[in-house]
Amino acid sequence: KEGSTGRVVVCDDRMVARMKRKHAVTEILKEELLNQGFEVYYQPIYRCKDGGFPVAEALLRLPDTPLGPIYPDEFIPIAEETGLIVQMTYLVLAKVCKFVRRLLDEGAKLEGVSVNLSVLQFMQRDLADHIAEILDYYQIPARFIKLEITESVVASNYEAVLSVMEKLAKKGVQFALDDFGTGYSNLSYVMHLPVDMVKIDRSLIWSSLNNDRCATLVEAVSRTFGQAGIRMIAEGVETGEQAAFAQRCGIELIQGFLYAKPMPQEEALPYLMGVKEL
Ligand code: C2E
Ligand code: CA
Ligand code: CA
Ligand code: CA
Repeated sequence: KEGSTGRVVVCDDRMVARMKRKHAVTEILKEELLNQGFEVYYQPIYRCKDGGFPVAEALLRLPDTPLGPIYPDEFIPIAEETGLIVQMTYLVLAKVCKFVRRLLDEGAKLEGVSVNLSVLQFMQRDLADHIAEILDYYQIPARFIKLEITESVVASNYEAVLSVMEKLAKKGVQFALDDFGTGYSNLSYVMHLPVDMVKIDRSLIWSSLNNDRCATLVEAVSRTFGQAGIRMIAEGVETGEQAAFAQRCGIELIQGFLYAKPMPQEEALPYLMGVKEL
């Protein structure tokens, strides 16, 4: 008897601890939102054909907190659960546009910067207008901003997502389908959504090195999508072998620690200016 009640109590303690942690993280997110303390890191993305870094992905970072470092894998789900992600994303977009403005003013041959959109964003009726406003304010042509959405975002509310995407695509915003191969991998998404790029998830890239069948499928999908005019990005490339595999598949762009990690704006600048080539 003692043992079983003991276990219940342990379980309860953990739950309480988890709720306390979630509450504390939520408070930190609110605070950072209020004083715009979030930092946006940029991960330059390598282009195989010329070794340049024409694009980057914007990734949110929390500065050091009283709880120590807190990473996106923890705070993004909490931000989504609490709805804070909506305002956080607009903050990211504004910071990205400001950075892009600077890059363009300094003459960068930039293709664009991508920003992650969570599903909650699509529940905002004014999403397309709001994004247009931010672009306008910083005088950024829409094609410089690419929005990343995952398959699960699309699956959760296909009609709503499609209509917002079409509205934004008409304005010239480009879309990337993120984490491809981890979710539903629904071919009809790629066929019917205005998607310019597909990002092959790192799990597929990694598996391909010791799984021939996976490698064959990744190569076939990459080539087929490429023929349909969809640009391919390999994610999570950490080794030369993985990079060689991606190149063998004809994949145009490679994102991974091998070439560049996510870094503060000032460090990313030379990559995106075209100064830092490998
Ligand atoms: P994601 O969108 O798939 O972003 C790529 C993640 O892979 C980033 O993790 C990046 O640091 C990591 N990564 C890049 N290259 C490599 C590599 O070679 N090896 C490995 N192991 N990892 C690599 P990060 O920055 O920790 O972000 C994690 C996730 O949090 C993101 O996954 C995204 O889903 C979410 N996230 C981050 N920033 C934002 C944001 O501003 N808005 C939204 N909605 N989600 C965000
Ligand atoms: Ca992403
Ligand atoms: Ca991804
Ligand atoms: Ca991911």
